[in-house]
Amino acid sequence: MPSGPNLRPTRCVIDHAAIAANLAELRASAGSAVLCAVVKANAYGHGAVEVARTALAQPRVGWLAVALVEEGIELRVAGIVDAPILVLSEPPPEAMSAVVEWGLTPSLYTVPGIEAFGAAGAKADVSVAGHLGVDTGMRRVGAEPEDVVGLLAMADAAGVEVEAAWTHAPVGDEPDNPYTTDQLERFSSIEALAGIPSHVANSAVTIRELAPSAMLVRVGIAMYGIDPDRAMAGAADLRPALRLESAVSFVKSVDVGESVGYGHRWTADRPSRIATVPIGYADGVRRDLGLRGGGVLIGGVWRPIVGVVTMDQLMVDVSAGDVSVGDVVTLIGADGAAAIGANDVAATLDTIGYEVTCAVSSRVPRVHVITE
Ligand SMILES: *Cc1c(COP(=O)(O)O)cnc(C)c1O
Repeated sequence: MPSGPNLRPTRCVIDHAAIAANLAELRASAGSAVLCAVVKANAYGHGAVEVARTALAQPRVGWLAVALVEEGIELRVAGIVDAPILVLSEPPPEAMSAVVEWGLTPSLYTVPGIEAFGAAGAKADVSVAGHLGVDTGMRRVGAEPEDVVGLLAMADAAGVEVEAAWTHAPVGDEPDNPYTTDQLERFSSIEALAGIPSHVANSAVTIRELAPSAMLVRVGIAMYGIDPDRAMAGAADLRPALRLESAVSFVKSVDVGESVGYGHRWTADRPSRIATVPIGYADGVRRDLGLRGGGVLIGGVWRPIVGVVTMDQLMVDVSAGDVSVGDVVTLIGADGAAAIGANDVAATLDTIGYEVTCAVSSRVPRVHVITE
């Protein structure tokens, strides 16, 4: 990220009151479970340290989760020293001494991983605990259910406490798919895990209230106010926390037959007014957003992006209406009665809202609006 003041109008505004409201909504669906705020990948682009602080200040939010040991260390260094931080996959054996040093809770599911964690704890002369990750259908990482007995015995021998066991639902966002309820039943019937606290729910499974008696619910996307899947829109009352905005930097007239931008991918079929906005694919706006029909809001009106998005700027057809330099441009968020959600951008790009907010690059300053 460049240093110095923000001299470009492009920025990401993070509404922490929305995060708090979304966590209240999730709490209402979580039964007696404690909420674990998933802040991996810089809190899905929202700012990990700031989101973690806000989340931990809410009732019944007791855990944080990250993908990488490095992300856990970032939170500890920022002064988040008391909250337990779960690392959602097993750290490499050579990372286990850092896991112990920084007091992180690893997921565990291999013999070398458990041995290395136990050895790191012994070397530091501290007792260590991890969460056993079990694969019941995601087929990404995790122990096979039939290996659980052996791994638990091994952990015991290595001086590692297995404080909880967890699994992950690959299709929890598909309300009509019976797979998730079957999967959760298979998980809860693993006999070796009887008596060990467990957790299974991501945002979608939490909203659907499929696992209310778990130790934790691991909530990411819904905390940020984005429905886990477009098909679930409205299943929970969520408020988007991220707003991506810029301002018009330049306006010009373009004649019939003139083309705009690299590759001349858009040609005016009538005299047009074209506005330029200082945000591009290096900021996380996909190059083909305009080609696929994407747009922005200016003055509460939707305007199409024309041609390809360039690295640092994009062009918008503002022929209809009065647009001038300095006008606010909304790429994600509301403008008057109109709004563009991360899931709307995702639909245009044939992806998911998660990828859209994660894509907002570190060049875009995050402005945190914290009211409390
Ligand atoms: C990312 C992640 C979550 C959070 O998922 P959301 O759909 O964002 O709520 C939960 N559990 C695991 C294992 C994950 O990797």
